[in-house]
Amino acid sequence: MHPLWAPRRGLEATGMLPMKPAPRTLRRPDELIAASLAGPDRRAELEQVAARYGVALTADMVELIDRADAKDPIARQFVPQAAELETRPEELADPIGDDALSPVAGIVHRYPDRVLLKPVHVCAVYCRFCFRREMVGRRPALTRAELAAAFDYIGAHPEIWEVILTGGDPLVMSAQRLEAIGRALAAIVHVKVLRVHTRVPVVEPARVTPALVRALKAANKATYVVLHANHAAELSAKARAACAQLIDAGIPMLSQSVLLRGVNDDAATLGALMRALVECRIKPYYLHHGDLAPGTAHWRTGIDEGQSLMRALHGRLSGLCQPTYVLDIPGGHGKSPIGPNYLTCTGGTNGSSNYEVEDFNGVRHAYPPRG
Ligand code: SF4
Repeated sequence: MHPLWAPRRGLEATGMLPMKPAPRTLRRPDELIAASLAGPDRRAELEQVAARYGVALTADMVELIDRADAKDPIARQFVPQAAELETRPEELADPIGDDALSPVAGIVHRYPDRVLLKPVHVCAVYCRFCFRREMVGRRPALTRAELAAAFDYIGAHPEIWEVILTGGDPLVMSAQRLEAIGRALAAIVHVKVLRVHTRVPVVEPARVTPALVRALKAANKATYVVLHANHAAELSAKARAACAQLIDAGIPMLSQSVLLRGVNDDAATLGALMRALVECRIKPYYLHHGDLAPGTAHWRTGIDEGQSLMRALHGRLSGLCQPTYVLDIPGGHGKSPIGPNYLTCTGGTNGSSNYEVEDFNGVRHAYPPRG
């Protein structure tokens, strides 16, 4: 057991206390119907989906939904749909292969210099397109012994330079619990960077408190927070203030977004999201192509569509607003960039290649061979 991982008792050892789910989070079909987020005629459909996958929609998100808009981008991300019950043959329960690369519970060691640490498998909201939908809301938090074994694994692998705290959403944990994790990591000298993946600053911004910010700094590492946001409408005044708390405390923020049919799959919407993030001092990092998670075919665009959108952003927006368009190769082979290619090799002479490079207006220019 890691020496800084002090024993805890009872439910607190699961990582879930003292933070309680927000009282007004909607979790049941009848609550969604009562909140006019779905008609009573959809009760059977909602119940079927809720029996299969987690459902949660925070009060902060409900507040932002325009019920008069049948295509509201926030409702669409969180209110279950019957299409989720249709699983395609190519879809996988564990689309990015976490389990096959997990040497001990809660750790995923896919790349040489970094690991995922997943202390909890719950989230403040459940996104209908979640790539870990077969795990989130369905697996328990790590036990005290499992978490200690995870720290032991990290400590025994000096090649691990970065720990990515994910889940579930790690920011549903209490500040005390996060601080304990930070202190355990602080004692592992070869870990230099702590990265936290979360949706909480957007979906439940009140959880971002001074105590939580202090807890994130307890690791005494370079700490980064990566925010998951998919539409500019998610960046409410409260969400922006929560992000500002983190950034003002010296925690840089990046973002990751998922390319989602009907939410952000047009250039104007995607561009508005990237600009809103940069205005919040959050650097767009990844735009994920939709993973092959079960029941999510209705969310996925073609890769060609994603590339066209990236070309449109390249032409229209500041370099600060450009994420890297990536695909997590199904089966656990890691992320690869799949953005458009602007460079073509046009031949070569004497061991040197000639190229043509395309500008943001689509005009091609010759680039001379190396002299
Ligand atoms: S917050 Fe992340 S892990 Fe949780 S349901 Fe959404 S996509 Fe999945």
